[in-house]
Amino acid sequence: MNLKVPAAILFSAVYLYNLILSVVRMRSAKNPVPANVADVYDAETYRKWRAYHAEKSRFGILSATVSFFIELFLLVCNIYASFANLFPKTVFMQMFAVMLLSGLASLLMLPFSWYDTMSIEERYGFNKSTSKTFWADQIKEFLIGLALMTGIGSLLMWAHQALGDWLILAFAILMTLFALVISFLYPVLSRIFNKFQPLEDGELKEKLYYLLEKNGYRVRDIKVMDASRRTTKSNAYFSGFGRMKTIVLFDTLVQSMTPDEICAVFAHELGHGLHKDTLKNQILSSVQMAVLGVLAWLTLRTAACFTSFGFDSVNYGFAIVLIMSIEFAFISPLFGLLVNYCSRKAEYRADAQAVKEGYGEQLISALKKLAKQNYADLAPSPLLVMLEYSHPTLSQRIKEIENKS
Ligand SMILES: [Zn+2]
Repeated sequence: MNLKVPAAILFSAVYLYNLILSVVRMRSAKNPVPANVADVYDAETYRKWRAYHAEKSRFGILSATVSFFIELFLLVCNIYASFANLFPKTVFMQMFAVMLLSGLASLLMLPFSWYDTMSIEERYGFNKSTSKTFWADQIKEFLIGLALMTGIGSLLMWAHQALGDWLILAFAILMTLFALVISFLYPVLSRIFNKFQPLEDGELKEKLYYLLEKNGYRVRDIKVMDASRRTTKSNAYFSGFGRMKTIVLFDTLVQSMTPDEICAVFAHELGHGLHKDTLKNQILSSVQMAVLGVLAWLTLRTAACFTSFGFDSVNYGFAIVLIMSIEFAFISPLFGLLVNYCSRKAEYRADAQAVKEGYGEQLISALKKLAKQNYADLAPSPLLVMLEYSHPTLSQRIKEIENKS
């Protein structure tokens, strides 16, 4: 049995699906803007936004196409197996060789991310990276990515050899733990990329702590992150668990919003915290991990998955390539549908929290500022929202906030 053709067909189907989505996305820019968000951009900014959107989409299609052909070439010409042949014949080194090649192949896309950051983002005023930050980020990302992939590969190798068919269950549990460790380490990892300062004393800090106390929500600290080193876009997030929770505000948020608007954004994040949305997301991602476990098990017990691509025996790195870029990529849009549906519901609930705290109006003006800063699509086609939007559109959110106020 040779699986090369079915694999190439599935891989192409994934690419085509994304291509169609990109085209729908490009056409979205022509949709009329809903009345309740008509004041987000002025005519000039709106023209700029459309140009930005069109250029990003066109460039996205180009880079996805190049990346598709590179990966297809590696796959159908047995390049993974040939490259692995240059390495010692131990199971670990064979796995590592495939991970390394896949990392090196992603370096071929560097000119594209360079153009995206330094030319497109730069021309529209988003980019704050210097070329030094850009290259330092790329090197760190490559090394961390390789280490993570090798870690996951080793985990798969060990679980399969030690547990055999119990792999599905074990893999799901291990990957969930792995995800937990990563989100636990996230504050530490983000220190590699950014600097954190405590929030200055004053009106804002008092109001934020008042909100937390009122809702019986305990956190360890509120920190401001120097996001302005890389971007002009703003954000806020909660990280960590239990009493170790830290709230991170982008410095761009603190600089561009009024204290009441920041409180509104904060109350929204607090809503996520109170509804345990992070935990719910963890559960959903555990289900995904279980599906990955099933795929891993099926892949590893099918010898043709390896022999069809030039390997003599099971290669754990190649198994991961097959699972992630073909098998899971093929079914993940279905997951996306469910996960995004739940996520949009959670966003409405979090907005309701801000309304409940009396910040409805400020949340609307904050969301409009955020939409403007992020060049958000004001009128995406409903198909796109259903398939890939984790947040409702700005217009939908404002309508809900006004209904609840
Ligand atoms: Zn949210």
